[in-house]
Amino acid sequence: MIKGSRHSLEAIRKMSESHKGTVVSPGHRKKLSEAFKGKKNHFFGRKHTLESKRKMSQSLKGRKSPMRGKKHSIQTKQKMSKRKKGKKASLQTKIKMSEKKKGKNNSFYGKKHKPESRRRISENNSGENFSPERRKRLSELHKGTKATLETRIKLCEANGGENNGFYGKTHNPKTRKILSEQKMGEKNACWRGGISFQPYGVAFNRKLKEFIRARDNYRCQECFRHETELFTKKSKPRKLICHHINYLKTDNSTCNLISLCLKCHGKTNYKRKDWTKYFQKKLKALQLHRIFVKKTLPNQF
Ligand SMILES: [Zn+2]
Repeated sequence: MIKGSRHSLEAIRKMSESHKGTVVSPGHRKKLSEAFKGKKNHFFGRKHTLESKRKMSQSLKGRKSPMRGKKHSIQTKQKMSKRKKGKKASLQTKIKMSEKKKGKNNSFYGKKHKPESRRRISENNSGENFSPERRKRLSELHKGTKATLETRIKLCEANGGENNGFYGKTHNPKTRKILSEQKMGEKNACWRGGISFQPYGVAFNRKLKEFIRARDNYRCQECFRHETELFTKKSKPRKLICHHINYLKTDNSTCNLISLCLKCHGKTNYKRKDWTKYFQKKLKALQLHRIFVKKTLPNQF
């Protein structure tokens, strides 16, 4: 065929007709593919002009997709899935795909879901409707995975401060009450079977507390702030708390009590075993230290 010339429409139709129904063997298909690959392709390195692009787009506009209204069979779906398994789009492709669907290019740009759709989406994602299988699959998928520092920073920036959907807002009293009730009593992670309602021993009186505070030089034994530095929310002086090291309210021996400020005492609600060990060690060391100081510098205490 002479370069630049074209087949007549009639010729094209005839060629198409004669090829209809013929099946190309896989071997031949591969050969054909090889013959037009890369530099062998007459379009290699070239690009369509904007005009041709527009023309192509125009000619395809309004054309119904051959798949419209149809669904792939399970077999086809499996084949498609198999072909794509293990393949990952390159970073470049990912960026291109992302750019293509950003902002105004997104098919959902400026649109909003109907209340009905929103409700359905919310229900689907609430987790309550997840089948046990799906739950297991999700759990397996996330096991051991940790967001990289980069991702964490991104997430934080995306949801932090003014970007947070709740920025500057407060819950109304009704919601606050519901939220509070959700974490009350047995529902709270810190629930220890109601021991906070048990009474303290008789020995745990004002005199003993004062003795412990004096023994600890009126300083929080964790952050070492002095009692005179502690104030309530209403700026009134606050006393140091006498903390039961082993969390037994009836064990009021002096070696089970230590002075803590409100802030440090709040920390001891978690990891109780660790804190018990920690304070027992600390008190022992402090007592040894004091005996030593008392002997050498009697005027210090
Ligand atoms: Zn403290």
